[in-house]
Amino acid sequence: MSQDSQKTHLTLKIVIGMFAGIVIGALLQMSFDDSGDRVFNIFGMAFSTYGFFVDGIFNIGGAIFINSLKMLVVPLVFVSLVCGVSSLSDPSKLGRLGGKSVGLYVLTTCLAVTFALVAALIVKPGDGFVIDTEAEFAPSQAPGLAQVIIDMFPSNPINAMAEGNMLQIIVFAVLFGIAMAKCGEVGEKVQKAFEMVNDIIMKIVLIIMELAPYGVFFLMAKLAATTELAAFSNILVYFFLVFFLLILHALITYPTLLILLARLNPLTLLIKMKDTAIFAFSSSSSSATLPITLATAQRKLGVDRSVASFTIPLGATINMDGTAIMQGVATVFIAQVYGVDLSVTDLLMVVLTATLASIGTAGVPGVGLIMLAMVLQQVNLPVEGIALILGIDRLLDMTRTVVNVTGDCTIATIVSKSEGVLDEDVYNADPFSDEMVEAGKVEGHNS
Ligand code: ASP
Repeated sequence: MSQDSQKTHLTLKIVIGMFAGIVIGALLQMSFDDSGDRVFNIFGMAFSTYGFFVDGIFNIGGAIFINSLKMLVVPLVFVSLVCGVSSLSDPSKLGRLGGKSVGLYVLTTCLAVTFALVAALIVKPGDGFVIDTEAEFAPSQAPGLAQVIIDMFPSNPINAMAEGNMLQIIVFAVLFGIAMAKCGEVGEKVQKAFEMVNDIIMKIVLIIMELAPYGVFFLMAKLAATTELAAFSNILVYFFLVFFLLILHALITYPTLLILLARLNPLTLLIKMKDTAIFAFSSSSSSATLPITLATAQRKLGVDRSVASFTIPLGATINMDGTAIMQGVATVFIAQVYGVDLSVTDLLMVVLTATLASIGTAGVPGVGLIMLAMVLQQVNLPVEGIALILGIDRLLDMTRTVVNVTGDCTIATIVSKSEGVLDEDVYNADPFSDEMVEAGKVEGHNS
């Protein structure tokens, strides 16, 4: 078997793992009795199917997989960003790069939440909804804007790494990279060492990707065994509206931006996102998916490392268009359920708060709901309303994470192109192949 077909095999295996997980998890749930479990007596000992499979095998397998990905995030972001910054010929480029990335991220988030508000006002998902839930939601305290800005600067970089605080790590890595580039011969030596470490960490990412079919299987099996479809029945309009808008944003907004701002074929990017999308979907976390997103941007989309190493981690933290879409629809939905009319000022407030909230919070599962609490408080809507959508949020969380990472890659590609450092040979290479090629290293086009 050729290396190429072996690699294509991997995507197929990941997809099979995903569907097998869904089917086996669903079958397991169907086998449970009213207690939500099925207990067998084997040689006089009680054997809980739920305990063995869901809390046991699926839980352990899935958690090990997610932890293995998360374990790479901090070293990968730090090392690759230091390499990226120090390889910039002109450090002043960094300001421009940052400006473009943040500007585009904020623009797409504003667009996303605006579309969501307009669509929800037209569709009215909350009309006729009867509150019959007993679920409760206790919001965590969201940080204020001043604190978000102060918190970007680490007082202790080791602590920032230990906590995985992405913005603080970015600030420290950028400074480190700039200083390293200014240190002449010594700096060059350290840079070489960083380059080598970077290659090694990237290799670990590729090794973990080989394990993805199993990891994805465990995650999906646990999800399918524990998701109760009954929760969906009275909230279907909300669910499908958010779902539809997420798909629309990924298939219309991003491709339009790619065509208008970078003159690239958007279909290529969407197809090349397939593995990253499955990781994002099954992990529900842009942060945990970051190693894969970074590898995809650099080695499949041809985004130069100086751009990818900065723009992708930044995006995993501040760019959450999918989450903003959910917040827009959820705010209107909750307002309609509680019979509150939102004024134009309220709607503008929602756009502003949802965008700021997306900047201040990290991409981890369920964080969208914490941000939603912030948005609701801003326009004086009852935060308890979140309980209405809690039961079905997980599936939407998975889907919006896919949109979030697709947005990160789209913006990184546009910024790279605008800086004249997108390797279009890599970008245009066969989108169905899973081969990872470093920018500038496509066969026959080495530069
Ligand atoms: N899970 C999402 C992410 O990591 C954030 C959210 O919407 O809750 O991107």
